[in-house]
Amino acid sequence: MSIIDSRFIIKQGYMVKRSQNKRVYTLVNFKKRWFVLTRRHLIYYDDENEAKRKEKGRVDLDRVHTIEAAERFFSNEEVGIEGDFYPFLVSYHHDEDYTLFLLALRDFDRIYWILAIRNVCAHNANVRSYFHPAPWNGRKWTCCKNNTKLTDGCRECDGWLSSQESSPSKDSFKENLSNKENCNSTQSSPIMPGGGTPGTPSAKQKDKQSTPRQKVVVALYNYKAIETGDLSLEKNMEYEVIDDSQEHWWKVRDSKGNIGFIPSNYVKEKELLGLQQYEWYVNDMSRQRSESLLKHEDKEGCFVVRNSSTKGLYTLSLYTKVPHPHVKHYHIKQNSRGEFFLSEKHCCNSIPELINYHKHNSGGLASRLKTSPCDRPAPATAGLSHDKWEIDHNELMLLEELGSGQFGVVRRGKWRGTKDVAVKMMKEGTMSEDDFIEEAKVMTKLQHPNLVQLYGVCSKNRPIFIVTEYMRHGSLLNYLRKNEQSLCTNQGLLLDMCIQICKGMAYLEKQNCIHRDLAARNCLVGTENIVKVADFGLARYVLDDQYTSSGGSKFPIKWAPPEVLNYTRFSSKSDIWAYGVLMWEVFTCGKMPYGRLKNSEVVDRVQKGIILEKPKACFKEVYDVMKKCWSHLPENRPSFQLLKGTLIKVSQGILVD
Ligand code: AMP
Repeated sequence: MSIIDSRFIIKQGYMVKRSQNKRVYTLVNFKKRWFVLTRRHLIYYDDENEAKRKEKGRVDLDRVHTIEAAERFFSNEEVGIEGDFYPFLVSYHHDEDYTLFLLALRDFDRIYWILAIRNVCAHNANVRSYFHPAPWNGRKWTCCKNNTKLTDGCRECDGWLSSQESSPSKDSFKENLSNKENCNSTQSSPIMPGGGTPGTPSAKQKDKQSTPRQKVVVALYNYKAIETGDLSLEKNMEYEVIDDSQEHWWKVRDSKGNIGFIPSNYVKEKELLGLQQYEWYVNDMSRQRSESLLKHEDKEGCFVVRNSSTKGLYTLSLYTKVPHPHVKHYHIKQNSRGEFFLSEKHCCNSIPELINYHKHNSGGLASRLKTSPCDRPAPATAGLSHDKWEIDHNELMLLEELGSGQFGVVRRGKWRGTKDVAVKMMKEGTMSEDDFIEEAKVMTKLQHPNLVQLYGVCSKNRPIFIVTEYMRHGSLLNYLRKNEQSLCTNQGLLLDMCIQICKGMAYLEKQNCIHRDLAARNCLVGTENIVKVADFGLARYVLDDQYTSSGGSKFPIKWAPPEVLNYTRFSSKSDIWAYGVLMWEVFTCGKMPYGRLKNSEVVDRVQKGIILEKPKACFKEVYDVMKKCWSHLPENRPSFQLLKGTLIKVSQGILVD
C-alpha cells in the first residue's frame, strides 16, 4: 500500500506499460497500471484503489533524459487491448539506460502525460538530443534496424529543454485546458483546441492523417509591417505558414491571400494555442511580478493565471482592496477525475470554464474575477525585419540621452517614427568595428525574453550606432539603488530578478556565447519588472587596454574569478562567478562589491579564497547559491542551466507560490 499526499500528485491515471525486460529471459508483455506523477517520481501500481495499491516500480525523475512520443511498433493483439492507443517513452539513466514504453489510451492523454512529465523534468541537466522511437528487440533497434545497442538515437528529439519559456511543447501542455462555455457541463471528456473530443478525431484531424499537415498559426499580438516583404499581424487572426525554415521570421499567408514575413514569436500554432489565447494567462510570470502588475493596475477583481512554481500546476493571482489593497494567490487544483477547481464545490472541465464560472460567482474567492491587465507589452523581434541587421541611420529619430557608458552615449530613439529603440553611439576608436559588425549579424539572431534584443547596427556612417530594444527603467544597478527602500524588504522580488538573469544566461550558455562582463550595470529593467542581460559578448571587441587586460583600470576585477585574474581565461564558468557577484549586488540593493578595497586587495582576497560576506537581507539558501558560483576551480561551479533549477527550487522552499 502506498499513500501519497494528494497535494504532491501532479497527475495520475491508467496507462498500459510495456515490460522493460531488465531480465533477459522474461517475455515482453503489456500490463495496465495506475500511474502517479509527483515532483520526484513516476510511480506505477497494480491497482487504482489506494487502499489495495501495491507499488510495482518507479522512475526517479532526476535521472530522466528523454520524454518523447514513440512509434506504434506493436499490434492490438500484442498489447491485448481493443481500440486506439498512443505510445510514448520515458528514458532514464541508472548505471545504464532504461526506457519505459507507455501507451496512453487517448491522444489527448498522451500529450498531457508527456508535457506533465517534461514540466517536472524541465531542469534536468542530462537531456539527450536523439532517441530511438521504438525498442531494442534483443538484436536490433525496431525503428532504424541498427544492430548496435549503444548507438545514438535515430530521431531528433523535439527539444523540450531548448527554451523553457517559449517551447511549443511546454505550452502545448495547456492544450488540454481548452475553452468551454459552461462550467456545469456534464461532458467529462476534455475538449481539444480544435473543438473535437479526444478519441473522436475531428474532420480536420482525420484529414491530417491523409494529407500533409498545413500549419496554421494564430497571432498573439498585433504587428505592424514596416519593411516591404513583411506582413502585418492582427491579434487573434489565423495565418497559414508557408515557410518556417528560419527560426525567427516565418513566411505566412493571411486570409486575404497576402504573403509576407512575420516574427515567429508573435504567433502560436493553432493546435498548440491552449491558454495563450486568453488575456488573463501570463505564462511564466512569477508571483512577485504578478503582484507588481496587479498592484499597478489597482482594480478590484483584476486577475491573472500563471504557471505555478510547482511544475505542471497553475496559480490564480487576484487583486482585492478589501480589507486593504493586496494580491491573493490560489492554486488551481485538479481532482482525481481531472477536473479543475479553486474551491472543491465548484469543479470544471477546463481552466477557462473555471475562470468563466468565477467571473460570475466569487465562490469563496476574495472577489469575483473582473478584469485582467490589458495592453501587455509585445516581445522584441529578432531584428527589425526579416534578414535585416543594417539600419539606415536616416530612419532613426534620436531623442533624449539615457546614459553613457564604456562605449559612449546611449539615447532613446524611434525607428521609422514608431518603434522605440535605444541607440548606442559608439565612441570612435573604442572597438574593433569591422569584427563587431560581422558578429552583429549573428547576434541579432539571439533571442530570449531575458536578453536585451539587438536589432541591428548603422555601420555605413561614423560613429557606428548599435540599435537595441529600449528598456524603460534603465540599468539594474541604478534601479536597485533608486528603489532600495521598497526592494530590500521584498526578497522574493530580488530572487525573481536573479532567476530572470539566470534564464537569460542559461540561453547564452546554450548558444556557446560568453558574456565576459556580467554585472548589475550591464543588465536593464523594463516594464512589469522584467530584467534582461545586455551587452553580451561586446567585451571581445573593445580596443581599450585598460578594459581588456586584467591589470587595466577599467577591467571588471571585482567580478572576475581566479582563472581570469591569472590567465585571462574566460568561459561560461567565469560568467558564473560574475553571476554570483551580481546576485550579491542584487541582494545588497546595489552596493559596491568589496566596498572600497583597492583592486590589488581584491585580487589578493580572491586568490586566498576569501569571498564576499552574506548580504544582510539574504536567506542562507540564497547565499549558498552565491558560494557555489565562487568555487575556486571553474569545473566545480555549476552551469547556468543547473543554477536555474537550483534557484527555482530555493524560491519554492523559502517563498510561498
Ligand atoms: P552602457 O553603455 O550600456 O553602459 O549604457 C549606459 C547607460 O545607458 C545605462 O546605464 C542605461 O542607463 C542606459 N541604457 C543603455 N542601454 C539602454 C537600453 N537598451 N534601454 C534603456 N536604457 C539604456
